[in-house]
Amino acid sequence: MATENFDVIVIGAGPAGYHAAIRAAQLGLKTACIDAALGKDGKPALGGTCLRVGCIPSKALLDSSRQFWNLTHLFGEHGISAKDPQIDVGAMIGRKDKIVKQFTGGIAMLFKANKVTAYYGFGQLQPGNVVTVKQHDGSTVELKGTNVVIAAGSDSIELPFAKFDQKMIIDNVGALDLTEVPKRLGVIGAGVIGLELGSVWKRLGAEVTILEALPDFLAAADAEVAKTAAREFKKQGLDIRLGAKVSKADIKKNEVHVTYTDAKGEQTIVVDKLLVSVGRRAATKGLLAEGTGVKLDARGMVEVDEHCHTGVDGVWAIGDCVRGPMLAHKGFEEGIAVAELIAGLPGHVNMDTIPWVIYTEPEIAWVGKTEEQLKADGTPYKAGSFPFAALGRAVAMAEPAGFVKVIAHAETDRILGMHLVGVNVSELVHEGVLAMEFSGSADDLARICHAHPTLSEAVHDAAMAVSKRAIHKAN
Ligand code: FAD
Ligand code: NAD
Repeated sequence: MATENFDVIVIGAGPAGYHAAIRAAQLGLKTACIDAALGKDGKPALGGTCLRVGCIPSKALLDSSRQFWNLTHLFGEHGISAKDPQIDVGAMIGRKDKIVKQFTGGIAMLFKANKVTAYYGFGQLQPGNVVTVKQHDGSTVELKGTNVVIAAGSDSIELPFAKFDQKMIIDNVGALDLTEVPKRLGVIGAGVIGLELGSVWKRLGAEVTILEALPDFLAAADAEVAKTAAREFKKQGLDIRLGAKVSKADIKKNEVHVTYTDAKGEQTIVVDKLLVSVGRRAATKGLLAEGTGVKLDARGMVEVDEHCHTGVDGVWAIGDCVRGPMLAHKGFEEGIAVAELIAGLPGHVNMDTIPWVIYTEPEIAWVGKTEEQLKADGTPYKAGSFPFAALGRAVAMAEPAGFVKVIAHAETDRILGMHLVGVNVSELVHEGVLAMEFSGSADDLARICHAHPTLSEAVHDAAMAVSKRAIHKAN
């Protein structure tokens, strides 16, 4: 078999992999990128989980369902009424599919434009930086890279008693492709996917029950943010049951009987579909042949140092298949950093300023440390917050729920975290990211002129509240 040589071979064309491949090619490196995924039409589809069955399709459905919810629940306040509004689920899913096709096709075009050679099939790393690709037509090609970047991503975790059939027991793939609104949707796991996709189907009329094993809701978020979000979700009718240990999920005819135990003892709920969203694991099965020297940790993640290097000469790993948050933008940054390091340039990802966003209504977003983490670390801090209910723009939009909280070091005033819950906070959180990247203080943020009336004024007033000088609320 002839071997084709490359400067860089990337395994996986998700957010991490396609960023690494395009940046490497931009830097003049001869680059190949391999991806095994097929789209809904059975044809190769680049872009990974994010573009096929993750970030983009979920946001398409979140937006469609939000429009429907607003029409049926919010527009009345604006004096707008519509007779008997209906949702056409087929049209909604069709719109989502069109967006997915546009963006997955877009990556293929970007590869062409940047002269990245795409290989469609399953890549396996062999010793000596050789990668074999089993292509979809059954043939195998062999590539050799001065550098190999592993960007294999992640898959849903399956529970042993609730195997995915993508009809009755589904993960994100099934939940993004339902053909009608289920009357009763059960969800295991009140994490990001459970809340986002649970919200989609709730807004369209499903009864949604979410079973969460932990006793605390959204334990990773700021406690006040989690409390506010939980209150709003309850008002929307999301039934979130905490401390629920699920033990069984039996399919009986067209129903799933889900058994769990909580403080009240053993209970069963009966649902039409069951979404299991209990986290994701690195997709490293079959990725490494014997003797590559690349190590996997106990959870199957590729072991890397702070520069995403595996310790094997020329082999790097990035994105969901390595430590750190499983977020597309974390993968983007690692992809670019590794390509630049390979080209001999500086490359670094600041893990302390990676923003988190949960695209529910209200949205939830944060960057940096929470008050709970700072207390546990013994770091002295001061916090200031500002509610959207006191903000002209938010009230004018009929979106008064939530607040912005800025946390700064008690002595230096340096911003340590920003926590937000409310309308469009997915955009506002970047003021915090930017300020933290520039080592800014709460006072810096408070002295920056923000346009009136905008939602961003909540950030400004929260920064002023850190030193008890907010204008639009009592300090
Ligand atoms: P992936 O996107 O998983 O891509 C890996 C690619 O590698 C895949 O195409 C796979 O087929 C391919 N591959 C794997 N092994 C091989 C092999 N051996 N040979 C060839 N190809 C291989 N993150 C956000 O930041 N914001 C969001 O709003 C968001 N929403 C999400 C919603 C859902 C429903 C889900 C499931 C995830 C969401 N995420 C979101 C997470 C985000 O999708 C992931 O963090 C991101 O896709 C990870 O990028 P990656 O490149 O590491 O891996
Ligand atoms: P998650 O880690 O966000 O949440 C999983 C939840 O399931 C946790 O609360 C956990 O306590 C609970 N859980 C685990 N085992 C359980 C069990 N047996 N019974 C009941 N509850 C159980 O995972 P996810 O929602 O599957 O999402 C996976 C990852 O995808 C996220 O962590 C995130 O990195 C990424 N993602 C990001 C976004 C975004 O950025 N907006 C959206 C979707 C997914």
